Amino acid sequence: MTWVVKHPATGETIGSLQETPPAKVNDLYREAKEAFAAWSRLPVRKRLNYLRALRLAIVEDMEDIVRVISQSTGKIPTEALVTEVMAVAEAILHIEKRAPHALKTKKVKTPITFIGKTSYVEYKPRGVVLVLSPWNFPFQLSAIPVAEALAGGNTVILKPSEISPLVGVLIEALFAKAGFPKGVLQVAHGGKELGTALVRAKPDYIHFTGSVRTGKIIQAEAAKHLIPTTLELGGKDPMIVFADANLERAVNAAVWGAFSNSGQVCMSVERIYVQRPVYDEFVTRLAQAAECLRQGNDPDDDLGSMTFPTQLNIVASHVKQALEQGARLLTGEHPDTWQEGWMFLKPMIVTNVTQDMDIMQEETFGPVLPVMPFDTEEEAIQLANDSRFGLSASVWTSDIGRGKRVVSRLVTGNAVINDLIITIANPHLPYGGVKEGGLGAYHADIGMQTFCVRTSVMVDSGRWNREVHWFPYAGKFLPFANLVRSFWGRSRNWPGFLRSYLQLLSLSRTADRQASKPLMPTHDKQLHS
Ligand code: NAD
Repeated sequence: MTWVVKHPATGETIGSLQETPPAKVNDLYREAKEAFAAWSRLPVRKRLNYLRALRLAIVEDMEDIVRVISQSTGKIPTEALVTEVMAVAEAILHIEKRAPHALKTKKVKTPITFIGKTSYVEYKPRGVVLVLSPWNFPFQLSAIPVAEALAGGNTVILKPSEISPLVGVLIEALFAKAGFPKGVLQVAHGGKELGTALVRAKPDYIHFTGSVRTGKIIQAEAAKHLIPTTLELGGKDPMIVFADANLERAVNAAVWGAFSNSGQVCMSVERIYVQRPVYDEFVTRLAQAAECLRQGNDPDDDLGSMTFPTQLNIVASHVKQALEQGARLLTGEHPDTWQEGWMFLKPMIVTNVTQDMDIMQEETFGPVLPVMPFDTEEEAIQLANDSRFGLSASVWTSDIGRGKRVVSRLVTGNAVINDLIITIANPHLPYGGVKEGGLGAYHADIGMQTFCVRTSVMVDSGRWNREVHWFPYAGKFLPFANLVRSFWGRSRNWPGFLRSYLQLLSLSRTADRQASKPLMPTHDKQLHS
């Protein structure tokens, strides 16, 4: 079926694509499994050559990529370039450099009690990985997990969001341009129904980025077959500003962190706590900075449009509820005055909020920034942690010691001191949320390893007929007890350890010598005596 796609803000037609019917899901998996046979056996370096070609194709086509992302989401072109194209190019470069190390077999130590053996960990591809991605960063949240899964030798089926489907078409074209073998990456175009069919077809791994609600549905479905998953979910990220912070920097960061991509960022600043002595000054400066932002869709504008009309209802409900409960709208427009179908929301700074309001507890995912004062460090930590989410947080202070102290008490998957959001852009750091922020992580070495089956291996030469801890146990309890005492006790007693160990060895060797004689079961002995 042909699917006509419109610009979210202007409504003009921006392209079309062929929808993948759910009935084709089995064909996709069959092709992915066929491609897996050869792709998984390629040496890592050969797979990385394809990823390098993909990176070069991305750089070559970046203007087109930016245009498609921007048209599909209403994102400012500069933002599409910085937060999508740059993020993906850096992530692929990182994979090219790190994958040989991250995925190589790693020798590990073996305890002395297993003397003579060696141990290692091996990473092997899982099979067919399903990547389900959202609309807010449709390029990076698709391309990065796909690239990590492919580096590990898996084949991938990607289902991008139905809200920004042309980005999926673009990704398909980039992979074709990079020359990937047939079936290594397949893009399935469709919505929830197709996503459900893909999950039910039992992939070997699911990497999901999206809402908490869908994440829970997918996890429940995956649990039926114990399919491993990574869930990258929502956020309600706090920003804690202490009185000693560089206020100008904190204000500039707050407007960018809360309003870039019109606040449709999982790691958006969704609530700010400001220490009381600087609260008034901070709020005044924040309002001034927000008023200066330029709205439109040129590369020189700051704020684009909302992407998904339904999201406006959530934003309106949070703001209206807060205002009804006594909050104050310092900048922006009251939701009752929004024009029907108008997707450019003005940045809204909301004061006089309380911690129990939806605007402080639920993910708003729009250009809304509630600000609240606090008095003590302890109070700030408690307020920040008082959330069902735990994706990211930022702490602003000129005392880095305090910043680190606060961060170590925050229940969060990511944290930044005197900056925000950027952990997702550093591919050396694992990325993932805690609580309802998500399960598991990707990026960094762990990102590539997650997409692999990890096999822990121990090797013995096979020379001896039996191990000291094998049957028969006769006479072994005491030497084992002495071994435990001498090795793991208060102080290590090497002579005692060796004595016990040699005793156990000798018992095993005696057992070896007697092994040729037939064993008489104990109860038989009793019966015959
Ligand atoms: P969503 O959950 O509606 O959809 C995400 C993807 O899942 C889409 O491709 C969708 O078609 C698919 N899907 C929906 N229902 C499905 C089902 N039952 N079975 C299988 N697939 C299904 O999310 P969204 O609205 O596209 O994205 C916004 C959400 O994503 C926000 O909550 C945001 O915080 C979160 N997000 C998280 C991160 C992160 O890294 N943690 C990043 C970006 C966005």
